[in-house]
Amino acid sequence: MMEQNLDMANKAHESVSEDLMADIQEMVQACMQCGTCSGSCANSFAMDLTPRQVWRLAQLGEKEEIFNSTTFYLCSACYYCTLRCPRGLPLTDAMSALKRLAASEGIRKYKQSSNFYKTFMDTVRRYGRIREAEFMNRYFLSMMNPFLPLGFVSMGMKLMKKRKVPLEIPKLFGEGRFERLFRKVEELEARP
Ligand code: SF4
Ligand code: SF4
Repeated sequence: MMEQNLDMANKAHESVSEDLMADIQEMVQACMQCGTCSGSCANSFAMDLTPRQVWRLAQLGEKEEIFNSTTFYLCSACYYCTLRCPRGLPLTDAMSALKRLAASEGIRKYKQSSNFYKTFMDTVRRYGRIREAEFMNRYFLSMMNPFLPLGFVSMGMKLMKKRKVPLEIPKLFGEGRFERLFRKVEELEARP
């Protein structure tokens, strides 16, 4: 019985993933590979695949290749490519859909990026400002990987040397007030 339930849950999950991928393919179906999106993207210098290449892979249904790249999670949702695409394609929405798909499939690289963002925002929500040491500790805990902090040691030392990471507890402002602000935004976003 338990195995049957697990099987049904897996099938339901697969079908949600397939639907999302089909939606993305539909969004970029009319892409003519002109490259305007890549030329307009301020983050493309850091991406290993350009947005144009990602849309071609999406047309071909090459999900694995897309998820092996850094492109979709480096998208900062600025909407510039969407505004400039001569075909009027909803490219930022397609990037967001890729992020949702990666989250639902538990893609590790994306988890790292989304947990970083979430713990950053949680710290701002709590204190009204960033508290570097607490933020990084929470991020490491969220990743449940005891070796992860090692990769940040050198950068942390450099930042501490330059006094960019204060060891003393910084003065707080707005504690609690930001919670109300965040809740209000959530309320507005939940409205149909
Ligand atoms: S700008 Fe539009 S049509 Fe041109 S490559 Fe990008 S998605 Fe395709
Ligand atoms: S929305 Fe994303 S992909 Fe498009 S230009 Fe902005 S950062 Fe680049």
